[in-house]
Amino acid sequence: MKIPALALTIIAILGSSCAKPPPPRTEFVMGTVCTINLGNKGTEKLYDEAFARLRELDALLSANSETGNVAEINAAAGQGPVRLADETLTVLSEALAFSEATDGAFDPTIGPLVKLWGIGSGNERVPAPEAIDRALALTGYRKVSLDRGTRTVFLRDRGMRIDLGAIAKGYAADEIARLLSDRGITSGIVDLGGNILVMGDKAPGKPWTVGIRDPRTSGGNPIVSLQASSASLVTSGIYERFFVENGKHYHHILNPATGYPADNELLSVTILSTKSIQADALSTSVFLLGTERGLELISKFPGTEAIFIDRGLGIRTSKGLRGRVRILDPGFTLHDDD
Ligand code: FAD
Ligand code: MG
Repeated sequence: MKIPALALTIIAILGSSCAKPPPPRTEFVMGTVCTINLGNKGTEKLYDEAFARLRELDALLSANSETGNVAEINAAAGQGPVRLADETLTVLSEALAFSEATDGAFDPTIGPLVKLWGIGSGNERVPAPEAIDRALALTGYRKVSLDRGTRTVFLRDRGMRIDLGAIAKGYAADEIARLLSDRGITSGIVDLGGNILVMGDKAPGKPWTVGIRDPRTSGGNPIVSLQASSASLVTSGIYERFFVENGKHYHHILNPATGYPADNELLSVTILSTKSIQADALSTSVFLLGTERGLELISKFPGTEAIFIDRGLGIRTSKGLRGRVRILDPGFTLHDDD
């Protein structure tokens, strides 16, 4: 029997509207667990495209790879300028702007120290003081010559290394959101190893609820929640990448003035911003500067907010978040009044 063309079309449409959307997709990219959740608007094609772009950015911007633009820059340190891909130019320019804004606390030339400490590599140990001094001599953002005209960069000394680990995941989250938005997606979550970006609302008029984990353990329970729409929340803390030697805890955010992990009153800092690259760079910067100087820094970036969790289990927020955070764990105290 011949089925009329119209009937076939109807069957095809019914078939596609009944098809269940694929589940959120998780892959290991940029040395971390990345999940994209597009709810019922997700398709295998969209997830394929988004993760392909993530892998592309990983290859380009990784300091851990032997190839890619950052690897080329590092290999040519002390020898000659290297041409920059658009993405590298954007991320490196932004990183250097944060170095200026933080008096060098945020420093993308931290690479030799990151490599020396090896935190997260499985070979971590407290380096000898002389080795730290040698690595310190190879850091310093002022020794980076970025030429926007020729779109090249030159690292002055042989052995210098760029590491964009504190900012590139934020850039990548913005890029994925842009790609998805170009494909008509208005709601979803991009989670790059805890670097969260929420697109739009969860449902019309209903914002997303985002949690901040207990900063005392890796993968801890959420202890604070807040609602957000079209925003990025990025946390820097002492708990995901660290090791313990002789009873002392060493984490991966390094102070370029001392060569040792930043040591202050903080367990973690979360930054809320409309731009994930800004939230990522600021989370690391503010963690390095501590609460008071950190608050000063974010006040220079309109629309950004911060949540500080300190070693005494106190929680402070910037002014714009007053009354907007919910404490989920009674072991933590909100100091919202100062
Ligand atoms: P953040 O606070 O955002 O950043 C901390 C990181 O920034 C440190 O780990 C260090 O890399 C760097 N940093 C430390 N001190 C400073 C400072 N003073 N100023 C500026 N930067 C500083 N990890 C792997 O183990 N294997 C991989 O193959 C791998 N590939 C990666 C590829 C890319 C493109 C990126 C962006 C990261 C990659 N990582 C890899 C790193 C890994 O995912 C890091 O844990 C992550 O980037 C750190 O992010 P965070 O959000 O935990 O901390
Ligand atoms: Mg960061």
